[in-house]
Amino acid sequence: MKIGAALEFNLIDYPGRIAAVAFTPGCNYRCPHCHAKPLVGNETPPVDEKDFFAYLGTVRDWVNGVTICGGEPTLQPDLVPFIEELRARKLQVKLDTNGSSPEVLSRLLADKLADYVAMDVKGPERLWTATAGVPGYAEKIKESMCLVASFPEYEFRTTVSPVVRGEEISFLTVAEMTETASLIAENTGSQWHRYFVQKFVPRKDGLLDPRLESFPETSPQLLQDIHAEVIKILPKTEIRG
Ligand code: SF4
Repeated sequence: MKIGAALEFNLIDYPGRIAAVAFTPGCNYRCPHCHAKPLVGNETPPVDEKDFFAYLGTVRDWVNGVTICGGEPTLQPDLVPFIEELRARKLQVKLDTNGSSPEVLSRLLADKLADYVAMDVKGPERLWTATAGVPGYAEKIKESMCLVASFPEYEFRTTVSPVVRGEEISFLTVAEMTETASLIAENTGSQWHRYFVQKFVPRKDGLLDPRLESFPETSPQLLQDIHAEVIKILPKTEIRG
């Protein structure tokens, strides 16, 4: 599998595990707030898969998981054999996805190849073309939501970012985040999902849409206002960041 960057083990990316991280290059979305511009554009020097597995061999006594994120990992044609190799090494696997490939999620679910799946839901459906930067994935995203909720552990998450609305750019609102939570609950038929409301963090010379670089972080007040309403729909909602 192509690896565009890798991190040695940490305690942050995979809740409850000590996990290394493999970032895959390329993405089919173009989220204006994306931080992974070089990775999305396939501009990072590749990490040799053999070197990544060799590293895992050196830390096998304490690393018990691997997070695969991107870019968008489900675009990798050899994602499954990569995970099977991790499985052979008795490692737990977390996958981060934008939800555009229910076919891949379905295969991972059927073959028990992922222990934890984290799926981005990029605001309410009517804004997906703006928040994902591309049209056309609505039905796949909804299908993926239902599949994700069947993995042993999972989460949904939304970054409260500025949204390009024609000439105007403004943060997702409390009402739009309430709509997002309602969609997750109605589409999956359950309100008992872990849901993270995440802070947008600007980065100079690093976002896919440079117009967002001058925006501040999502304010704590907005995050708290969103949390206060969204928790009525998805009671296991937390603020992250
Ligand atoms: S933030 Fe959007 S564009 Fe960036 S990697 Fe994730 S899904 Fe792709």
